[in-house]
Amino acid sequence: MNYNSTRNAALQVTAAQAIAQGISEEGGLFVPQSFPKADLNDMLGLDYIGRAEYVLSRFLTDFTPEEIKACAGSAYGDGKFDDNTPAPVVSLDKHGENKHILELWHGPTCAFKDMALQILPHLLTRSLKKTADGKTAVILVATSGDTGKAALEGFKDVAGTEMIVFYPENGVSPMQKRQMNTQEGENVCVCAIHGNFDDAQTGVKKIFTDPALKAEFAQHNKMFSSANSINWGRLLPQIVYYFSAYLDLVNAKKIKMGDAINVVVPTGNFGNILASYYAKRMGLPVHKFICASNSNNVLTDFIRTGTYDKKRAFYTTISPSMDILVSSNLERLLYHLCGEDTEKLTGWMNALQSGGAYTVDAATADAVRALFYGGCCDDKETVEVIRNTFEKDGYLCDTHTAVAVGVYEQYLKETGDNTPAVIASTASPYKFPDSVLDAFDCEKPADPFAEAELLAKLSNTKIPAPITALRTKPVRFENTCAAADMADFVRETVRV
Ligand SMILES: *Cc1c(COP(=O)(O)O)cnc(C)c1O
Repeated sequence: MNYNSTRNAALQVTAAQAIAQGISEEGGLFVPQSFPKADLNDMLGLDYIGRAEYVLSRFLTDFTPEEIKACAGSAYGDGKFDDNTPAPVVSLDKHGENKHILELWHGPTCAFKDMALQILPHLLTRSLKKTADGKTAVILVATSGDTGKAALEGFKDVAGTEMIVFYPENGVSPMQKRQMNTQEGENVCVCAIHGNFDDAQTGVKKIFTDPALKAEFAQHNKMFSSANSINWGRLLPQIVYYFSAYLDLVNAKKIKMGDAINVVVPTGNFGNILASYYAKRMGLPVHKFICASNSNNVLTDFIRTGTYDKKRAFYTTISPSMDILVSSNLERLLYHLCGEDTEKLTGWMNALQSGGAYTVDAATADAVRALFYGGCCDDKETVEVIRNTFEKDGYLCDTHTAVAVGVYEQYLKETGDNTPAVIASTASPYKFPDSVLDAFDCEKPADPFAEAELLAKLSNTKIPAPITALRTKPVRFENTCAAADMADFVRETVRV
């Protein structure tokens, strides 16, 4: 199994190279050359680690089975996830509905990013050994909140790696900020930038593709790498939980083997929902992919019209991990749907960079619409969904999950399509206690930890241990910088 770049058909790299490098030199993203078929019956009796090994081994053909076993075992075993169950499914079908919540936030940072970032350090350090032995990987991360903490937690004190995380100073929740600024580990650093998530992401991409900076770092035996969801090593582990959810539903007799499902994903950078599309390419019977956005609804418009236009107001919402106007992983989907035409795709991506917009050809737009439904929820609707879901189903969801539930309800109303739906739940409600409390009629305390306690009382649910532990951790990072100065900050921090 080899990988091409979305912007250079001539380039061909191994999985280890794709993971070690993160992004292709000309700015393209690495994509697998084919999609091996998975046999669902073979996976049915396996636990999560076994299912992960099954999927990973089909794409990481330059890894030994022992290596893959070790990676999956250390990421998803050893008590890293609640009850050693990384991706439980909770069915909300008491009222004749067919919705099933796939909870992806039982890891150490209470967000779905843990599903990929607990395993990425193992995949990356092994990839580096195979391709760039002896080099230290300088991992740069742009985060809208959850990636940063999950990456820091995954990479802390991992030999041969250094990590710098950039986040928009006013674009993350107080709890998320605290999670990052209290991070432990001698090889990690955190910096708030003046700007939004896209500024942070653009800045990181610029550093990655700057040949002079690359040469400077190479002289010191260091290379840049990424832990963002553009890295193949992030996407690949996310394919696993869609299979796992399906098989759990079969085992629970909620569906029969072979039945189609719909997948609903609260979307930002388009990584999570792309992974579900890749699962379908491997044989998972998915009927429709429902792409849920908040007020930053650039994807909703794109799916409906074929025009991607980021020239619009940027909203800071109560679902901050989805406050994104450039969804990087969409490039991969378009690559697969436009006939792997790298020239055409490069043209669109260049148009996005220079003019802020592009329109795909009619055939590609139709292909997108045949598979995907796009919808959005604003903050007010999101809070309503949290309230209604709690009252009706007794289920407490976070703001991101609520966007997905809300858009799923719109989809149901519009289409009447009652195919069993797997809704990705991407964060614990306790990461956003302030916004979640708005769904309850109560006075809100000022302190986020007091809010979490009140939420626990009102909802009769438990505060996750990692959130409680934050309260007494000392703040280690208070750096800030302008988006334009990110390269200098990296130079100073890494001290080349
Ligand atoms: C990152 C994130 C998302 C968006 O996922 P993408 O893969 O970027 O589309 C949604 N919800 C939460 C809680 C997240 O952390």
